[in-house]
Amino acid sequence: MAGETGRCSSPGCTEPPITVLRGSGERLCARHFSASVEGRVRETVEGTGMVQDSDVVVVGLSGGKDSTVLLSILSRLLRGRPVRVVAVTVDEGIAGYREETIRTARAITAACGVEHVIVSFEDYCGRTLDSLVRQRPEHPCTICGVLRRRLLQNAARDLGATRLATGHCLDDEAQSALMNILNGDLRRIVRTGVPDTGAFVPRIKPLRDIPEKEVTLYGVVQGIYTPLPECPYAGEALRSDVRTLLSTLEYRHPGTMVRLMEGYGRLRERVGGCAEAGRVSYCPDCGEPSTGGLCRACELLRDLRTR
Ligand code: SF4
Repeated sequence: MAGETGRCSSPGCTEPPITVLRGSGERLCARHFSASVEGRVRETVEGTGMVQDSDVVVVGLSGGKDSTVLLSILSRLLRGRPVRVVAVTVDEGIAGYREETIRTARAITAACGVEHVIVSFEDYCGRTLDSLVRQRPEHPCTICGVLRRRLLQNAARDLGATRLATGHCLDDEAQSALMNILNGDLRRIVRTGVPDTGAFVPRIKPLRDIPEKEVTLYGVVQGIYTPLPECPYAGEALRSDVRTLLSTLEYRHPGTMVRLMEGYGRLRERVGGCAEAGRVSYCPDCGEPSTGGLCRACELLRDLRTR
């Protein structure tokens, strides 16, 4: 951000640039940079018909920078359209971390004038993530991810949502793609490319083409970025190593993440037609959709009960 010289690339603008976009090489001032990010999100949302009139859009709002930026842009983009937007925050019960992000989530929903619902692991299964991890310390992010997805889906369905928006940016998408490949997880690769089966509230990712650095800078420029503590379990996940690897590759070989996502898209097209792609069954314990037998949340909770 600091150290850019000269003038903004936008025609007629004499303001100093604050950044250079890596893809296009444009040097943009604060105003035109914000307009560029908002324009690309608008293109993703409107160009693909992600949100239709009369949709109910639930936004997964952790209170971190990505979901905060998402809510800010999306609520403005959809203002004036017959679309209801509700933010849902999941409180996993992570001491010293989640309290602050919930405060940020409350502040941004108030600023955007968006309804805000908070659901918690404790209400769902009577336990906080901290207590679950004490019992099964190996994979905190797996436990967290499985239960968080369940709670978000449940909340979205209870609110009558027709879309569930999450703040995944280009970096998150590239990390997930690479992790699925590194794990040899064909089912996940296939599942991310399947058409809507009606069993889950369809997810949308309006920030999927915006690099994380631009999301952060947008938050700073708009005055909605709040430095927050890092989750105490973050360093333990494979994602943490993949993030470091991809950031290094992107720095040394610009465009790596975009190329990865293009190749991943082609891969999904090739494998998306296999039989398991659209198959959904229902969990015998809770009746929620699953990919076969017990759903991951019930499997996890049953495993924790028997330890
Ligand atoms: Fe959950 Fe892991 Fe993210 Fe922490 S880092 S919020 S445990 S997924």
